Amino acid sequence: MNTTTKLPDQKKVGMVSLGCPKALVDSERILTRLRADGYAMSPDYAGADVVLVNTCGFLDSAKEESLAAIGEAISENGRVIVTGCMGDEAEAIRAAHPQVLAITGAHQYEQVVEAVHEHAPPSQGPFIDLIPQPSEADIKLTPRHYSYLKISEGCNHSCAFCIIPQLRGKLASRRVDAVLREAEKLVAAGTKELLVISQDTSAYGVDIRHEERMWKDHPVRAHMTDLARELGQLKTPGGEQPWVRLHYVYPYPHVDAVIPLMAEGLLTPYLDIPFQHAAPSVLRRMKRPANEAKVLERLKAWREICPDIAIRSSFVVGFPGETEDDFKYLLDWLEEAQLDRVGAFRFEPVEGAQANALPDPVPEAVKEERYARVMEVTERISAAKLAKKVGTRIPVIIDEIGEPDDDGDIGATGRSQADAPEIDGAVYLRNVPADLQQGDFVTVEVEDADAHDLYGVIEGS
Ligand code: SF4
Repeated sequence: MNTTTKLPDQKKVGMVSLGCPKALVDSERILTRLRADGYAMSPDYAGADVVLVNTCGFLDSAKEESLAAIGEAISENGRVIVTGCMGDEAEAIRAAHPQVLAITGAHQYEQVVEAVHEHAPPSQGPFIDLIPQPSEADIKLTPRHYSYLKISEGCNHSCAFCIIPQLRGKLASRRVDAVLREAEKLVAAGTKELLVISQDTSAYGVDIRHEERMWKDHPVRAHMTDLARELGQLKTPGGEQPWVRLHYVYPYPHVDAVIPLMAEGLLTPYLDIPFQHAAPSVLRRMKRPANEAKVLERLKAWREICPDIAIRSSFVVGFPGETEDDFKYLLDWLEEAQLDRVGAFRFEPVEGAQANALPDPVPEAVKEERYARVMEVTERISAAKLAKKVGTRIPVIIDEIGEPDDDGDIGATGRSQADAPEIDGAVYLRNVPADLQQGDFVTVEVEDADAHDLYGVIEGS
C-alpha cells in the first residue's frame, strides 16, 4: 500500500503595498523574511491567513488612501496587520479601524514579522523547515526585469514641507559591498534595469564617512560615483549591460562626476533631480539642500558632456508665500532648463511639517491656476523634445507584450532610457516579433511622438 505524508498547510500572507518605490522595497524585504520563515504568499484576500497593508502617510491624501485600503482588507479578509509610514499614527488607524490586529511603523521589519508570527503562527514540520532560505532578491513586487536598489534610509535635511526625517530618521547608508552584492544577485536573477533609490542619493555614504569595503579584488568607497561605476560593470547572464538609473539626486557639486560615466555608457543617461522650485526666495523658505548651485549653467555643462542625458524633476506650486513673480521666475527657468520629464504638484500641508506654520498660504484657486500653467509649459517642452526623436533609432527595454490582434499583429510597450518605470512615458511598438520577451533590449525606429510618449517599430522588423 502506498502511504503518503501529508504536508502541513503553509500559512499564507496577503500584501497590499501603497506609496513610493521605497515602500515597495520595504514590502519586498518583509515578504522575503516571511518566505524564509515558511510562509507562502496569497495573491488574493480570500486565500490569506493574514493581510499586511504597507501604508504611506506622507500627504493627507495618501493617509486617506491608506485608511481606505485598510478598510477594504478588513471587509474582505478581517485579519489585518498595518505597517509602513502611517504606522507611526497608530491612534488615527485604531480610531478608524479598531479591528486591526497590529500596527508597526516604517522600516520595522522585525516587528512586522513578529506580528505575523503571533497572529498566524507558521506551520511547523520537516518539509516546511527545509524550505531554502531565499536571497534578498527572491521576493519582488516589481516585474522581474527591473528592480529598485535601496542604498540608504532616512535623510539629514529638513525641507520645510517634508516629514521624512521625522518618519525615517537621519541618513543611514548601507555598506557598499552589501549594495553591490544585492545588485549582482538581482542581475543574475534576471534584472535588466536597476533603479537606485534613497531619500538623498547624492549624500550616500556621508554618514559612514564614505567607508571603503573590498568588492571583488579592489576597495570601493560608499560614495555615489564609486557605486555608480561598479554598478555599470555588472553583466546579465546573457552578457548584456543592465541599465542603471539614479533617482533622488540633489545637485551637489560632486554630482558632476557621474555625468562622464553616462557619456562612457556605464550609467543610463538619466538623472532624477527633485528641484521643487527655482525662485531663490521660495527655495530658501523650503530649506532645500544644494540650492545655491548655479543649476542652469551646470545643466548646460552636463549636456555638453553627455548630449543624450534626460533630466527629470518635480516641482511644487503654491508653496506658502509664493508670489506671482516667484511663479513667473519658475516658468522662465523651466523654459531655459528644457527638462525632459517634469512632475508638478500643488502644495499640500503635511501634518507635522514646518511649512504649515509659514505665513501667506496660497489660495487653492491660485494653486490650481499655477498648476495648469506649469503643466502647459512643461508639456509643450516635452512634446517638442520628443518630436525631435522622430526618425531616430533608440534603445528600448520591453515592459509588456500584447495579444495578437485580428490580423495577427502583436503590439508591445517599452521604455527608452529617458523613461523610468511608473513615472515617465512609454514607447509603444507595433508589429513586434512573436518571440519578443519582457525585459528584452531592442533598437526602435521612432515613427511618431506626442507630449509624453513615443511610437515606433523594432529595427529590422
Ligand atoms: S531632502 Fe528634503 S524632501 Fe528629501 S527626504 Fe530629506 S527633508 Fe525630505
